[in-house]
Amino acid sequence: MEHIVIIGNGISGVTAARHIRKRSNDKITVISAETDYFFSRTALMYVYMGHLKFEHTKPYENWFWKKNRITLKKGYVKKVNPQAKELIFSNDETISYDKLVIATGSKPNKFGWPGQDLKGVMGMYHKQDLDNLELYAPNNNVCKRAVVVGGGLIGIELVEMLRSRDIPVTFLVRENSFWDMILPPSESKIINRHIIEHHIDLRLNSNLKEIVSDENGKVRAIVIAETGEELPCDVVGLTAGVSPNISFLKDSEIELGRGVKVNRYLETNIKDIYAIGDCAEQRENIGQRRTIEAVWYTGRMMGETLAQTLCGNRIAYNPGPWFNSAKFLDIEYQTYGWVWAQPKDNEARFYWEHKDQKKCIHINYNKETHEFLGINTFGIRMRHEFFDVALTKKQSVEFVLENLADANFDPEFYKLHEKEIVSKFNMENNTQIKLKKKKWNRIFKVNI
Ligand SMILES: Cc1cc2nc3c(=O)[nH]c(=O)nc-3n(C[C@H](O)[C@H](O)[C@H](O)COP(=O)(O)OP(=O)(O)OC[C@H]3O[C@@H](n4cnc5c(N)ncnc54)[C@H](O)[C@@H]3O)c2cc1C
Repeated sequence: MEHIVIIGNGISGVTAARHIRKRSNDKITVISAETDYFFSRTALMYVYMGHLKFEHTKPYENWFWKKNRITLKKGYVKKVNPQAKELIFSNDETISYDKLVIATGSKPNKFGWPGQDLKGVMGMYHKQDLDNLELYAPNNNVCKRAVVVGGGLIGIELVEMLRSRDIPVTFLVRENSFWDMILPPSESKIINRHIIEHHIDLRLNSNLKEIVSDENGKVRAIVIAETGEELPCDVVGLTAGVSPNISFLKDSEIELGRGVKVNRYLETNIKDIYAIGDCAEQRENIGQRRTIEAVWYTGRMMGETLAQTLCGNRIAYNPGPWFNSAKFLDIEYQTYGWVWAQPKDNEARFYWEHKDQKKCIHINYNKETHEFLGINTFGIRMRHEFFDVALTKKQSVEFVLENLADANFDPEFYKLHEKEIVSKFNMENNTQIKLKKKKWNRIFKVNI
């Protein structure tokens, strides 16, 4: 029996542990400095917003771990010693391993801003950030204004959280339109408008220069780099992206880039040491995917894949077509395949926007072959399975449009827009695509 030690009790580490247990009797220890039990990081916002208690974010009951013989250990690993196959904790305790899985996730980026470690300044990643937010922004009497720095997916979540308690928010976004390195201008504009409609003080083209302290070491104001304006505030949220949480591995001989370097088998340069989840960096891109992907489902997939390898069935990590989803305040966003901010030379685009300016779809396809390459949808839910198969089978844009009713996943009685969408495409491209009826058995099987 081997001892498999996993550093990190997030989705990747815990998935690996569960799947190793399904396949073997090895001894498993999962370590975390953050919380006693695994919780859903993606649900943190709903705790502050009062929809859930923190207890509800735990996908497994506390007894689950003992029953499955997974030992949980709370502690911060300060050093890995691969020669001795040993970990050293911050209190100098040690633990030895036969196989080590590094699943230490991300940490919020800080760019050396003056005042970035003041009281009342926080990221939005760890449970401790949530506790800090509760302490410094419990309501709009204690927190008269908050400033959120960084216009990505976590930034807009933090803005929404603060607004749910009626706290005035200034949102500093470095780019000249929200998330415009990822979203095409049409979608980015929808979100700019939507943010302003929510009475959020959106400042585009604005960088943080410094955070100013009061006499007690707590944030009092921020200064905007471009204008020099000093803006009084009680809380600053730093949400300018995340990066792999790997500083404790600096002198460990484990090869590091921005993350822990791994091959397709999630193996590091050192035998018996692996890395998964947000902290892992692929040596080579898989298709057009980034080498580091800080998303929930890829962490889960890596955990499942590695468990097989650790239990004797060595398999490569194969994430399939890219997809992601998020919520920008009231607007749901999904993306399947690739719809870059700007089309590449061989790509053509089709864009439809509803007159309420809150729903849209944006399709990307190959100009010559008409192969469907990707879709963004705002305010319309699509079925993951449909697009996964369409992308894998390299279906055409015409096929996707014909079957748009099957692709739709909006709840019953939602207003549907497929007819309007297809007729706009036909008009612009001089085509005769006919929308097919929804197949009754589409929920059981994807027969495309
Ligand atoms: C607010 C928020 C919302 C998000 N929403 C979405 C979403 O909607 N969809 C989506 O796909 N993704 C979302 N994400 C991203 C997603 O949550 C992460 O990709 C995922 O949780 C990463 O999982 P992981 O297992 O790699 O690491 P983590 O969940 O970060 O877990 C790593 C654990 O290791 C611990 N650790 C680190 N170093 C050490 C050490 N040296 N010693 C001991 N313990 C250590 C950490 O404290 C942490 O508990 C969101 C993230 C945040 C912060």
